[in-house]
Amino acid sequence: MQYLSTRGGDAGRSFEDVLLAGLAPDGGLYVPEEWPSFPKGEWRGLRNLSWGGVAAMVMKPFVGDFLTGQELHALVEDAQATFHHAATTPLKQLDDALFLLELFHGPTLAFKDVAMQILARMMDIALMRRGQHVTIIGATSGDTGSAAIEAFRHSKRVSIFILHPHERVSPIQRRQMTTVDAPNVHNIAIEGDFDDCQALVKAMFNDAPFRQRMNLAGVNSINWARILAQVIYYATSALALGAPDRALCYVVPTGNFGDIFAGYVARQMGLPIDRLVVATNVNDILHRALTAGEYRVQGAVQPTTSPSMDIQVSSNFERLLFDALERDPARLRALMGQLGQSGGFSIPDDARAFIRQLFASGRADEEAVRATIRDIHEKTGEIVDPHTAVGLAVAREHIAPAHMVVSLATAHPAKFPDAVQAATGVRPALPAHLADIMEAEERFSVLPADLQKVEEFISANVQQA
Ligand SMILES: *Cc1c(COP(=O)(O)O)cnc(C)c1O
Repeated sequence: MQYLSTRGGDAGRSFEDVLLAGLAPDGGLYVPEEWPSFPKGEWRGLRNLSWGGVAAMVMKPFVGDFLTGQELHALVEDAQATFHHAATTPLKQLDDALFLLELFHGPTLAFKDVAMQILARMMDIALMRRGQHVTIIGATSGDTGSAAIEAFRHSKRVSIFILHPHERVSPIQRRQMTTVDAPNVHNIAIEGDFDDCQALVKAMFNDAPFRQRMNLAGVNSINWARILAQVIYYATSALALGAPDRALCYVVPTGNFGDIFAGYVARQMGLPIDRLVVATNVNDILHRALTAGEYRVQGAVQPTTSPSMDIQVSSNFERLLFDALERDPARLRALMGQLGQSGGFSIPDDARAFIRQLFASGRADEEAVRATIRDIHEKTGEIVDPHTAVGLAVAREHIAPAHMVVSLATAHPAKFPDAVQAATGVRPALPAHLADIMEAEERFSVLPADLQKVEEFISANVQQA
């Protein structure tokens, strides 16, 4: 399988190339040349396999000769071992037609662990073969940083530096990053806000001599390997609920459009997914785009109780648009140019029709999130986090009698104890493996929001081969 850039400036790349590159050099996102698909009979055969077995089969057509099926299987099982549930991503039935897909049993209690644990192991193999080291830098307001640190803490070929805004990350989220004791892990608390952290990371990537000297790499949600790894749980859950002989609808709490795009990939591969429902909080550019056809930035980001979905634009939407525009890079470039210059564009009619065949959307404001957490607790006894509640609030609007609905549970409620307690009166307890996190020793360096100071710190602390 070869990969090409959505903007038309790169093609013929291997899986290993796109795994290490992240973003394409022309600013586009990598997508496979074509969507592999399994006939129904083959999907039925997968019902008898373990989670790791399904994972290997689903990912194999995309990785080419990077790994054999057996190597993939072993890699996935090694990643699975970091999870604290025997089913890895269990389904929980809430009512007749509604299921929760729990993706938060990994080391940092959010769905990003699934893909990050797999990505880190793949990167290690690629770097080993190439005899290379990389420096991963990233900015985080919470989930991504801790998932990346946990995933790369044992890597011998990666140094990782995560910037977070000093004293502006919740204590649990900070401690998930700063209590990791590994020589290649570095936490930098920036005297500033999340935007300052992001601006510093961007400036470092734009500093070509620094980028080359440090061999910088990114692991944000545009990395194709992360999306691919997320296809696994669409497949395992659909098979468990009767696919390919029964159609399903998925509701996905959405920020950067990475997780739901994995659902699109699953459907391209032949799973009978009838509907993919985008669930947004009040930062609702996607909901507005899908209902009114205008993809347009509107004002500043509004902070909510589901901070991992507080976004202004959704980077991975570009991948869907590319298909919706019949894979014409010139049309895509024109729209992306308008987004950069004037903050938005109208989705052309043909593309809009393509998207609406499969996608629907809904939006939940803070009151709806609170009411949903409370109501789910009263009716089912389950405690859900605010991100999951955005999905459930939207799921309840979209349940049609003929449909089984799977709503993705993206974070553990104990990660957001204040919002959960405010809605239910119950303070969710951290799982046993994190019970001592509030006492463990923290390690981080406080630095000013100053590019030179941060670059000096990274140069001084990076592990050189
Ligand atoms: C990152 C994240 C999301 C959003 O996922 P995208 O792939 O960016 O759409 C939703 N919920 C939680 C808990 C997250 O960490």
